[in-house]
Amino acid sequence: VIALSKPTLSLALVLGSLATGDRVDNLRANAAALIAGEALYDQLGDTAQLFAYPRPTPSSVGADSKWSYEQRLANKKGAARTLYAEMREASPWNKCPLCHHRPVGTLDHYLPQKIYPTLALVPLNLIPTCRDCNWVKQQFVAASEAEQPLHPYYDDFAADDWLQADLVEGPGAPLVFRAVPLAGWTGVQADRVKKHFGDLGLNDLYAANAGAEVQAIRARLRELLAVAGSDAVSEHLRSEADSRASDITDPWRSVAYSAWGSSDWFCAGGFDID
Ligand SMILES: [Zn+2]
Repeated sequence: VIALSKPTLSLALVLGSLATGDRVDNLRANAAALIAGEALYDQLGDTAQLFAYPRPTPSSVGADSKWSYEQRLANKKGAARTLYAEMREASPWNKCPLCHHRPVGTLDHYLPQKIYPTLALVPLNLIPTCRDCNWVKQQFVAASEAEQPLHPYYDDFAADDWLQADLVEGPGAPLVFRAVPLAGWTGVQADRVKKHFGDLGLNDLYAANAGAEVQAIRARLRELLAVAGSDAVSEHLRSEADSRASDITDPWRSVAYSAWGSSDWFCAGGFDID
């Protein structure tokens, strides 16, 4: 997960930007309760307890929050569309903070708006993500701390630390990626990262990209092997891995170069087998 700073936008500012109408008036009349909900959200988020956020009972405030999100915030012609755009652009290089790879295409309600409509407009609950990651999450609601999806405003599990790959010595030299918990993590933290990795299908995503990368660099490796031998191939790949290690986007790349560079089989020509 790419850790993002909490949005500087507050719910109060959003409520003040929704133009006018009965539904917006209803929200403003109930602003104190909505803002108390935002404060509770932040308190639970800071201690990784958002699964315990109380489910609101159906109300006009919930329905009007949801309506205002759709019509005034997300709608391209909505009065608060600039705030939506500002939140959507918060991730570096427009990369989805959940998969580190695809471009941001939407805002995801961390606690789904269908079940938590009074949080529909709360900036802390709105995360810029790609459409694929958003689709996977759907209406999922965690029943325990360990089931909670990772939250880019509250969690910092940068994938360059826990992502590893094993090389399969065979045609195409495929890599199998996995999430490896770090020594200092609690069991709950390990469960959350493994679930994140599995649910979002990150092995499939990274393995496909790594497979394409082998094709892209094959001619260069072939030439290096012929001219300078397999040690030179290994040195080249390791140096590429080091150079990419500080790239917070596409962490699969550094992990892949490292796995290739440390495989004698790959460096001696395994990269060239179809
Ligand atoms: Zn994504």
